Formats: sequence, structure tokens, C-alpha cells
Amino acid sequence: EELRGEATFDKQPRQVPGFAYSRVQPTPVPDPHLLAWSDDLAWYLGLEKPAERGPAVEVLAGNRVTETMKPFAARYGGHQFGSWAGQLGDGRAISLGELRATDGTTWEIQLKGAGMTPYSRRADGRAVLRSSLREFLCSEAMHYLGVPTTRALSLVGTGAKVVRDMFYNGNPQEEPGAIVARVAPTFVRFGNFQIFAANGEMDNLRELADYVIRRYYPELGEPSPEVYLRWFAEVSRRTAVMIAHWMSVGFVHGVMNTDNMSILGLTIDYGPYGWLEPYEPDWTPNTTDFSYRRYAFGQQPQVALWNLVQLARAIAPLVADPEQLRPGLDLYGTTLAETMQAMMLRKLGLTTHETADDQQLIEDMHQVLVDAVMDMTLFFRNLSHLAPKLLHDAANEETQLLEFVEANSYAQPGYAGHIVLVQWLQRYLKRLRQEPITPEAIRESMLAANPKYVLRNYLAQKAIEAAETGDLSVLSRLMEVLKTPYAEQPEHDDLAAMRPDWAASKPGCATL
Ligand code: AMP
Ligand code: MG
Ligand code: MG
Repeated sequence: EELRGEATFDKQPRQVPGFAYSRVQPTPVPDPHLLAWSDDLAWYLGLEKPAERGPAVEVLAGNRVTETMKPFAARYGGHQFGSWAGQLGDGRAISLGELRATDGTTWEIQLKGAGMTPYSRRADGRAVLRSSLREFLCSEAMHYLGVPTTRALSLVGTGAKVVRDMFYNGNPQEEPGAIVARVAPTFVRFGNFQIFAANGEMDNLRELADYVIRRYYPELGEPSPEVYLRWFAEVSRRTAVMIAHWMSVGFVHGVMNTDNMSILGLTIDYGPYGWLEPYEPDWTPNTTDFSYRRYAFGQQPQVALWNLVQLARAIAPLVADPEQLRPGLDLYGTTLAETMQAMMLRKLGLTTHETADDQQLIEDMHQVLVDAVMDMTLFFRNLSHLAPKLLHDAANEETQLLEFVEANSYAQPGYAGHIVLVQWLQRYLKRLRQEPITPEAIRESMLAANPKYVLRNYLAQKAIEAAETGDLSVLSRLMEVLKTPYAEQPEHDDLAAMRPDWAASKPGCATL
């Protein structure tokens, strides 16, 4: 209400100067049916699970808009792969409005794939089951891992076909359509500020900043030039914490354009994301980024900083001197370094951290993990069991270490990198022996820091292939298991297995 919205319902793609959003109705679909539902989130929001078909699912598909809903699509811009792209906006996402949760907080409900909006440009406003299932599963999995993220309430099949050229080979295929209802306090992105700054809409820029601060950062006080600075610093800090989490669990977003950066520091817009399997800083799941690798795993910390610089440039007109925004950027760097350090120590079961040797130990680890072609998730998870055990009984230490390395590596036994990692592990164990806490306590804390279950790319792929034939069992099993990713769940060991060979070259999906 406080922001300037365009009151038209026209869906013709166009520039929408002067407005923060456009009122737009979702386009109905032929046969909305529920495919998946997030029980915990629904419970928190005070919602009951709907029947497979019916009025509630019609709402979740955009077929039914109740009187209290005021659907809208937001206007934003962004830098895509480093270049300013002008107006982008919600081209296929339509927000229905806000819902008050059981604890009184408010949550925006947004339907992704609900039809065309003024921001659809040349695209169709729809989403395919493949990409919707990936967003649904991964955002919930990230939440349960403890990563700041938007959530997903429902996955609804539309009964309509959507045409996509999955391999860019001029061979478009029909695919089943779907809609995710995603949920966050707000979906405002860096790009919402950028579009105003780029177009010289200074009143809108200030109004949006004031709105975001009053609504989502009330602890900072009434907006003022001073408060804008503190706000920017807080956005920077939260972004750093989010990136540290990604680096700690091996998540690669894949499209860190500034329109995909949440103003709340949440992981937002799950597209061709992926999870590291072999520990490889250069790896990206995004097939359209294979040559530059701008958004590869190891690039994420500096890309987020670059994005924050773009946000700083956008909001600079609100502060007396743009240089005053620099401490906010510096806070990004220090928070990221401290948080990543703390997380890595926890992953390794180290409670104290005093010497330069420790620093060196961690630095060296990154390279030896690459050299040994280790599965990131299994390395840390299985080390959580092995290291405390070796503290009790160091007999055959070297043999056990080599077996561990071979079992969690994508390289064949005898690979030279394995020996290098064994040597590092011996150094690490020596250090771990100096820990003041018991091996049992070390084991507990390592298991709580190193997930056993992450949404490996091939697992998402299996869930998609089954769902496309009408079998939702893989999806629902993954949903359950990924709710407690740090628990052992031995009956689900197969979902923690290393990537099979057939999946080695399968990237995330770029055509969404
Ligand atoms: P993304 O790369 O997913 O962040 O999307 C970039 C821009 O393209 C955003 O403005 C999206 O709303 C828009 N977009 C992506 N897919 C579609 C689609 N199928 N229909 C309309 N707009 C889309
Ligand atoms: Mg996006
Ligand atoms: Mg997207």
C-alpha cells in the first residue's frame, strides 16, 4: 500500500516507469492438483493441508483469487552476468499478498509460474514441473540445513503443457507445468533499488528504502541518512552470513545476478543451482556459465561483494557521501571471514583456534580436498565418525585414513592426491588430540555441523523423473529425509551415497 503501484491489469510486456509493482491477476490453469505440501511451514502459517483438488489448491494455482488478495508483480532491474540488464521484474511470479503466521509475523505468498505479467518480456510466465520441483525441494532442504532462505509451501501441477528447449538444440519439448507457492517476509531484491536509481526515480528509491527499513528492519529506527548507512551495513552482514552458509554446505546458487539477491540476506530464486560433489572451487551447475564460470562455487564470496557494491551505488543518493557506505562493505568482508572460519572450525571439531598453524591447517585443507577429488559432504560427514574414533585408538591410523580417503573420493585407489590428503589428515589429528573436550563431544559437535543428506543433483533428478510419470514417492521421501539432514537415518543411507557415474556430467537445469 505504501509503495507506488500501477493499478492496471494489463499483461502486455512493457516498461513500467514510475512504479514499484503492477497489479496483475494470475492466469488460470486447466487442472490444478497438489503434488507436494510443506507440513511444518503450513503449520507455522496456520494452514491445513488441502485435498488434492479443490478450492484451496485453486488458490495455490492462481485460479481463485479471494477478496482480500491484491495480486501484484514487482518491478525490478538487475545486473545479469555483470552487465546492467535494465528492467526485469516478476515475469512469472505473482504475489497474492501477505499472511499472518501463528506467531504474528507476516509472510508474502508468491506463486511462481502463475502466468504473464507486464515483466514477462518475451517469455511465457510459466514454470515447468522440473524447475518447480527443484525450487520446492531445495528451498525447504536449505531451511532445514539452517541456511537463511525463502521457503516453499506447495507444489501444484497445472495440467497444462509448457514448451522448453532443454538442450538449446532447437528441439523444443512439451513438459508438464507446475506452480510453487513460495514464502518469505518479502521478496524485495537488490534489483528493486537498482531500477529506481537507474531511472532517476529518487522518490521511489527513498520510499522503497523507508518501507523496507520500517517493515523489515524496525530495530534500526526511523529512516534517516544515518539509518540508511546502518541498514546497508546490516544487509551486508546478513549477505555475508548467507554466503558463509553456502560455502559451508557446498551450495552453488548458479545465477547470482543482482536481481537474485534478497534485501533480507535470504537465498532466493532457485534455478540451475547445484551441490558440490567433488570439492572443486571452479565448479558451476549453470551450463550457460561454463566458459566464464562467474558464479562457480569459489567465486560466490566475491560475487556477493560485487553485488553489494551495486546496491551501494543504487542507494548512494540517499546518503550524504557515498564513501560512508564503505564501512558496510568492509563489514561484509570481516563477517564473511569470521563466519567461514568459525564454521570450518566447527566442521573440523576444533573448539579453540589460537595459532597461525591452525590457520595454515585450514587453508591447506581446501587444496588437498581438491587434489584428492573428495566428495565434500561425505568427507566431512564421515570424518565426524572417523576422527573421534582414531583419538581413542590410533592403531593402523594411516591404513584407516587411506581407506577413508579412497572410499569418499571420485578418483581410483592409488591416486597420488590421496596420499597428500592422508598426510594432511595426520597433521589434523595431531591437532585434534590437543582439544580439551572428549572424543564423544567432538563427534557430537562435528555431526551437528556436517550434514549427511544434501539435495545432490542426481537425487533431484530422480525425483523429477519419477514425478513426471506420476510417481511422487521419491519426492516425498526426499522431503522427509531432508528435514533432518544432520541425523543418521540409516534406513536412508542410499540417499547419502556418492554421485553415481551416470550423473557425473549432469548439470543443474539451465532452461527453467
Ligand atoms: P532468473 O534468471 O530466473 O532470475 O530470471 C530473470 C528474469 O527473467 C526475471 O525477470 C524473471 O521473471 C524472468 N523470467 C524467467 N523465466 C520466465 C518465464 N518463463 N516467463 C516470464 N519471465 C521469466
Ligand atoms: Mg530471478
Ligand atoms: Mg529464476
